[in-house]
This record gives sequence, C-alpha cells and structure tokens, in this order.
Amino acid sequence: MPAIDFIVEPRWLIPVEPHGVVLEDHAIVISAGQILTILPAQEARSSYPDADWHSRPNHALLPGFINTHTHAPMSLLRGCADDLPLDIWLTDHIWPLEGRWVDREFVRDATDLAILEMLRGGTTCFQDMYMFPDEVAAVAAERGIRACVSMIVIEAPTAWANNADEYIDRGLTVHDTYRDHPLIDTSFGPHATYTVSESSMKRILTLANQLEVPVQMHIHETAAEVQQSVDNYGVRPLARLHEQLALTPLLNAVHMTQLNDDEIALLAETGVSVVHCPESNMKLASGTCPVTELLDAGINVALGTDGAASNNDLDMLGELRTAALVAKQHSSDARSVPAADALKMATLNGARALGIDAKTGSLLKGKAADMICINLDTPSCLPVHNVLSTLVYSASRDQVTDVWVAGKPVYEDGHFNNCDPDDIMQRARNWGQRITGASQ
Ligand SMILES: [Zn+2]
Repeated sequence: MPAIDFIVEPRWLIPVEPHGVVLEDHAIVISAGQILTILPAQEARSSYPDADWHSRPNHALLPGFINTHTHAPMSLLRGCADDLPLDIWLTDHIWPLEGRWVDREFVRDATDLAILEMLRGGTTCFQDMYMFPDEVAAVAAERGIRACVSMIVIEAPTAWANNADEYIDRGLTVHDTYRDHPLIDTSFGPHATYTVSESSMKRILTLANQLEVPVQMHIHETAAEVQQSVDNYGVRPLARLHEQLALTPLLNAVHMTQLNDDEIALLAETGVSVVHCPESNMKLASGTCPVTELLDAGINVALGTDGAASNNDLDMLGELRTAALVAKQHSSDARSVPAADALKMATLNGARALGIDAKTGSLLKGKAADMICINLDTPSCLPVHNVLSTLVYSASRDQVTDVWVAGKPVYEDGHFNNCDPDDIMQRARNWGQRITGASQ
C-alpha cells in the first residue's frame, strides 16, 4: 500500500468532476501530493487507521481556484487610478506609474502581496502577465503556489526589455529555467493586438506551437479597441488574429466583451478558451462578455480577476459570484450560469485553458491535491440547504480555512507556512508611502 500523506474528511466534498456532484460522509486520501482516492469516510477509517486525519465537520472541500488572468505585480498599484475608462486609465495613469516604479524589487514585493491575498482566498493557481516574469515565477515557487507565468510581449520598452524580440528572448529563458518545475508553467503573453506587431505575433505563434504553451492576450476588451482596428486595418482584432492563424486551443482570449454571432461560432470552431474578467470589465465599463452564449456554443470559459489596479481585489470567490450574477442579468435568464457552472469556470475550466487539466482543476484520482476547505458554519451561510448555492451566493473568501497545493499545506487556519505575512505587508506599506509621497 502506498504511503499516505494525510486524509481529510469534510462535511461536503465537491470534486467538480463529475459536474454538480456533492459527496457527503466521504474522505479524500492524499499520497505523494496527489489524490489517491475518494471514498466513504467509514471505509477510509478502516482502510487507513493510522493516517494523519483532518476532520472538517462544518466545511466544504473543493479544488483550489484558478485565477486564469491576472497581473500580480499590479497589486502595489491598487487604488492608484480608479473610476476611469480603460484608455485613460492605461495611458494617462498606469503606464506612467509603471514607467516610474516598476523594477525587479517592485515586482518581487508586489507578487508576494498578491500571492498572500490569493492563497488566503483559496486560489491555488494563477496565470500572470507582467514584466520580470522570472521574478514572479521565483516568488510563486518559493511560496508554493502553482502558476503559469507569461512571457510578456509588448512593443514599448520597459525596465524588463527594450523591444519585442528582447521580450521574447528573455521570456524563453524563463521558460527554459522552469521547464521541469513541478509548480511553474509558462505561456506567452502578447499584451493586445494594438500593442504587438504582426511580425512579433508571427514569432510568438511559431514558438507557442513548438513549445505547446498557451498564449494569453487581451482581445476585444472594449468597443474602442475594435473600432480602432476597423479604422486602421479594415477588420476587427479577432479577424486579424484569425488571418494570423492565432485562433487555436492554445489561445486564452481575455475579456471578449465585443462579440457577434459569427465570432462566437469561430471561437467554438477553433477551440479557443475565453477568460472572463467580469469585475474588471464592470469597473472600467469595458462591456459585458456574453458568457451564456459562449457556454451554449460549447466554448471553454475560464475566470480571471485581472490585476488589482482594475478590480480592485484578487478574490476568485467574489469573482465567480459576480460571473454568475452578471450572466443572469445580461441574458435576462436566471437559469444562466448556475452555481455548479460558476464553480467549474473558476476551477476546471481554468486548468483546461492552461492545458494543465490532467494535473489540477478537479478532485480526481491521480490529480495533484490542489484543494481548499471553506467553513460554512457562519451567520452569513446558515442554514445550508444547498451547499453549491451557499458557496457561490453566500460564502466569502474569509471563510477559507485550509489551502493545499500539490498536497502541501500552504495556509492553515490563519497561518501561512511558506511566508511571513507581516514582512510582506510592511514592504507593501513602504511602497505605498513611496508612491503616494512622490505624487504629492
Ligand atoms: Zn489584463
């Protein structure tokens, strides 16, 4: 019999696969960081009498959340520029701030802050797009969170690279460094069609196909972006990407608030994943992603918070609730995105978009033990008539009590095992003073 790491017996066990299933009186057995089996708790007690046993009698156990699109280092710019439309927010505020402040130290401290927030809220994996991806990867590896770190590409020079080829080359070094890392994967992150040239896209797509890594890109985020492309090239951004052969199952199309029926059919046909960022879209008034139509067309829709400067938190439990609510409002159909679908978007669909669904995203035998417990015995959640509804419509991230990544406990009841939260928060305060002080 294989050595058992530990066993958890929650009140409710939600594997996400099979869809909509809730198991009661069951236990999950972890061995070598992976799920060995899920079985009735009585049976587990007799089969593994000496195992390290964790009872969670008021808790739901489910896969950790996958934040499929964020910019972790933007957490130090949280609240720097609010209540502004995307173009003004980006060109008049965020890009100048980034030009002034972003260096390796900024990225390290900001990523630490973001990971602290994400782990505390039950996120076990995130896909990032930012400068100094080597630093983001290093911090993620150190803190024990799973990450898919994008090799960012933008034509404009930054502290990370001077031109698109340099961005790509530096990104490839990160890819090589983490090629065999158990927690860190890489993807390409061309910023958007309006910031990355066709020749750079060509090189990125060739490399992405060779390396079989995802490509995440902001696409059709606003009506203005689409109109600008029509003015400059005579076609919408998605059509340009189609001409460039970019529409493949490797593509993570982020935002997608502007879509017609033909484009939805094209996304379905080509197997593109859409990454829905409802709160960022709402806050920047970018538009609404037609999630109901995308799901009806069979498209894989994952969820992301986007960066903390446009959300302004990295709360996946909050994001999945927003996703469920916005879908109902937008489609005028209360049946749209039911609770189980919202949970799947925040877990398994993210893993599929990143091409890592064989190892995470649901609680199946052989997958990594990336999982969380949420205590539902609170005034805001009682009584629990339907645990899926309670999780999606009533629970908050503060109720997360346990977080395991690859079977390692990274957060346990107020305690972080791989970092010093006081130190991380002090560094964030110091940055806050520096940035605010300089603007006065
Ligand atoms: Zn973004």
